[in-house]
Amino acid sequence: MAAIKIGDIKIGDGSFVIIGGPCAVENREQFLSAARFVKEAGANILRGNVYKPRTSPYSFQGTSEMGLKYIYEAKMETGLPTVCEILDANLIEKTEKYVDMFQIGARNMQNFPLLRAVGQSNKPVILKRGLCSTIDEWLNAAEYIKSEGNNNVILCERGIRTYETSTRNTLDLSAVPVIKSKTDMPIIVDPSHAVGVREYVAPLAKAAVAAGADGVMIETHPNPESALSDGHQSLNPDEFKTLCSDIKKLANFLGFELI
Ligand code: PEP
Ligand code: MN
Repeated sequence: MAAIKIGDIKIGDGSFVIIGGPCAVENREQFLSAARFVKEAGANILRGNVYKPRTSPYSFQGTSEMGLKYIYEAKMETGLPTVCEILDANLIEKTEKYVDMFQIGARNMQNFPLLRAVGQSNKPVILKRGLCSTIDEWLNAAEYIKSEGNNNVILCERGIRTYETSTRNTLDLSAVPVIKSKTDMPIIVDPSHAVGVREYVAPLAKAAVAAGADGVMIETHPNPESALSDGHQSLNPDEFKTLCSDIKKLANFLGFELI
């Protein structure tokens, strides 16, 4: 498999990668505090979004360039490589100065001009599966990025919409072996957006390790109750630490290389 490098970290080389951080960068104190406990818990990459694609235009929309500066500061302090969602091709130039990797969110999986634009950048890209997309549509979306010359695409299963309403979405874990059999792209799993409920995140994160994913992306917040977005699905620092430790034990048992 083609491993993808983000700073000193590699995804898809037989190791298991943990990406952690809050849904959104809210302010300096919140993000630096998150970065510190994410690092301490042994996670490998720091996440935090500054442009928020909210369902309602009246919800918190993100901290934009100010947030990017906090991401950069957190990376300098902790040494963790970083990932941030990009919403618009016009934001790429500004954003790439501050972060190591782009994320294309579920709602933009078929935003073809945006896919082509990140395809022209030299940053690795996490491509989330669309809310109602088949695996085939998802793979074609990845091709849009690759066709512009950027082969550093990591797929992220984050749940799809089904008739089930007990969870925010339904995590399609079968995507992991299907993707493994169809492509050599790494695949990570985001159980946070899949289930949308804090107590369901850890079991599915562990299931993702067992299914053979190359990593997980977990939302965590210094104080989930006060989070400006996705607090109900964010782990608190202790929960995150326990999950990281459990994931590492499981990954070790299953023969992943630990980083
Ligand atoms: C996110 O990662 O914060 C996010 C908005 O995810 P998704 O695009 O999967 O909904
Ligand atoms: Mn979120």
